[in-house]
Amino acid sequence: MKKIKVIIAGARGRMGREAVKLVHETENFELVSVLDIKYDGKSLSDIEGFSHIDVPIYTDALSCIHNSQADVFVDLTTPAVGYFHTKMALENGVRPVVGTTGFTMEQLAELKHLANEKKIGCIIAPNFAIGAVLMMKFAQMAAKYFSDVEIIEMHHDQKLDAPSGTAVKTAEMIAAVREQKQQGHPDEEETLAGARGADYNGMHIHSVRLPGLVAHQKVLFGLPGQTLTIRHDSFNRASFMSGVKISIETVLHLDTLVYGLENILD
Ligand code: NAP
Repeated sequence: MKKIKVIIAGARGRMGREAVKLVHETENFELVSVLDIKYDGKSLSDIEGFSHIDVPIYTDALSCIHNSQADVFVDLTTPAVGYFHTKMALENGVRPVVGTTGFTMEQLAELKHLANEKKIGCIIAPNFAIGAVLMMKFAQMAAKYFSDVEIIEMHHDQKLDAPSGTAVKTAEMIAAVREQKQQGHPDEEETLAGARGADYNGMHIHSVRLPGLVAHQKVLFGLPGQTLTIRHDSFNRASFMSGVKISIETVLHLDTLVYGLENILD
């Protein structure tokens, strides 16, 4: 059986470490190299926690892609560089699977255009946890009946972007079916700036950042006399790996960019 050759960018990170474990332990996957911000020319086995994995580390994305002959490029880095890595992978015919969050709408549109031009697959998923995808789908179902909604996303305090990609994606999915409405009282005033959170199409998104949290989200709906709360919790980063695995397998069979894991699940 031909193995799927994978590059991982951000391998030393919290998500990256889980992804290295996943790729290393999956029979038909092969880790061919990693892209890092440091340790150029070293082997991953020189890094603590990876002593059994001898693959080259690159710090230059283009050299990494050219020398690795990979099928899939997994990006788990930062919003500042993830977009450039993804673009470079597409330009060089390697299919990106991107978990890095914080891409703008313009960046997503540009990457979609590039994937279509090159006719190769790309999956960008703000949340690889199956439960989170279901939470978003259930929220979209509920939004047909409840036009008042507040999204509260809660993450660890090392997260760089706010609101989370999952919260934005949830808001987009809700906005696609929800009756347009500017929520709250028309004369509402914030006596402390930001108290009502971010405004997305008239609904509000609140970002909580605390040590101890991993990735959690509540979607609260309200109607007179009743509320509905849909909640998902990721307690560790292993929760995201089933989605990464499905994406690595699926991206090979796509010829366009797919945004959101829900669009590749049955
Ligand atoms: P993290 O622990 O900070 O890991 C990021 C890694 O990327 C670090 O090892 C960092 O190195 C490395 N890095 C930084 N700049 C780089 C560059 N130019 N080239 C290569 N590597 C670089 O963060 P994390 O918690 O793993 O999260 C990574 C991303 O995934 C974030 O955008 C986060 O929001 C997202 N995320 C997505 C999901 C999902 O399901 N889609 C779930 C959780 C998190 P240094 O530490 O040396 O800077």
